[in-house]
Amino acid sequence: MNNDLSFDQQHLWHPYSSMTKPLPMVKVKSACGVRLKLDDGRELIDGMSSWWSAIHGYNHPALNAAVTGQLENMAHVMFGGITHQPAIDLGRLLVELTPEPLQQVFYADSGSVAVEVAIKMAVQYWQSQRKPGKHKLLAFMHGYHGDTFGAMAVTDPVNGMHHLFSHVLAQHVFAPCPTPAFGQPCEEEDLATVKRLLSEHQHELAAVIIEPIVQGAGGMRFYSADYLRALRQLCDQHQVLLIADEIATGFGRTGELFACHHANISPDILCLGKAITGGYMSFAATLCSEKVAKGISEGEAGVFMHGPTFMANPLTCATAIASIRLLLNQDWRSNIQRIQAGLEAGLAPARELASVADVRVLGAIGVIEMQEPVNMAVIQPAFVEAGIWVRPFGRLVYVMPPYVISDADLATLTTKMLQVIQII
Ligand code: PMP
Repeated sequence: MNNDLSFDQQHLWHPYSSMTKPLPMVKVKSACGVRLKLDDGRELIDGMSSWWSAIHGYNHPALNAAVTGQLENMAHVMFGGITHQPAIDLGRLLVELTPEPLQQVFYADSGSVAVEVAIKMAVQYWQSQRKPGKHKLLAFMHGYHGDTFGAMAVTDPVNGMHHLFSHVLAQHVFAPCPTPAFGQPCEEEDLATVKRLLSEHQHELAAVIIEPIVQGAGGMRFYSADYLRALRQLCDQHQVLLIADEIATGFGRTGELFACHHANISPDILCLGKAITGGYMSFAATLCSEKVAKGISEGEAGVFMHGPTFMANPLTCATAIASIRLLLNQDWRSNIQRIQAGLEAGLAPARELASVADVRVLGAIGVIEMQEPVNMAVIQPAFVEAGIWVRPFGRLVYVMPPYVISDADLATLTTKMLQVIQII
């Protein structure tokens, strides 16, 4: 192994990794379009969009220009007492694109922080309404909202990665994962438990937090839009706010600009992240309704108690504006439908395999759920050997490629995926 890789292995933590039993690592030298170019000259077709974020592919001229253009003015300036054009322009875009009740924007540094901000907003809102007892969240089994403490506490405590910390996390109320599957009508029994939990706990619930339509890192499950629509009504009936975590689903991934659109609902608080900068930098935003913003601002504190150092970083805002405009200036809906059709056709044969439990596709997300957890030490190098970048977890071998992927590359990606799951 060369010196760099051995330094990496001995000194650098990677996501969800061991420092004593590290798994093999590939070194990427550069990336362009849907290709990751490795140090050793090999090229991989990217199926992951760097965890849902690089929707326009890598090294995009419009995004590069946004970064360098903004760099000429300033990379950063504090947001306390100061504002700037990129923050204002991005705010306008977000307010315009998201459902009408969402009028206020709080910029955060990452998805997990956006979730922390959303939880704080909900808690502060009820405090301002003189109902401080309403400070818990109702969350869902198979839900995932991030790795910081507040976000971990609303992530599935059993199936999620966070059961290790359950004794130090805030205790919330958990409902069964939303059912039925996407496209199916929701029946009374699908809602019975969440209804009961809302009635029993409404006195202590500040908000419900949910990933609309797609539960991502907690299981890659796609559920009925009817469920989400009914949940919105239940929240209103029980005087509980609704937080939609669209960090993974936002900006077209599910076939709608935001997954809430499938159910035609608006949350009281919305978290955006990942693809917001086209995958260029860590950035997120939490939007809220005027009702929530007014409640907080007229409450005991009189202010919202959060303010990260790099809030509204101008480089990042400028990149986000460029990424969103790039998306809106193309026929993104037809493009996602094209990718959906390619994923459906390419992954369908996996249904015949005994080792496969389920195959599902929604928008530009394709999932093969295996019967057994995959062996990462074996499957990851096999994907690289096959010339594709796919990073499974647990029993889930899934892809969400950059939207710029060609039909030919998509066909190669799915064909190689199928080949690899058959030989490992
Ligand atoms: N919410 C959801 C739905 C996510 O998928 C993720 C990241 N996988 C997060 C929150 C956390 O975002 P970040 O990793 O940027 O902190």
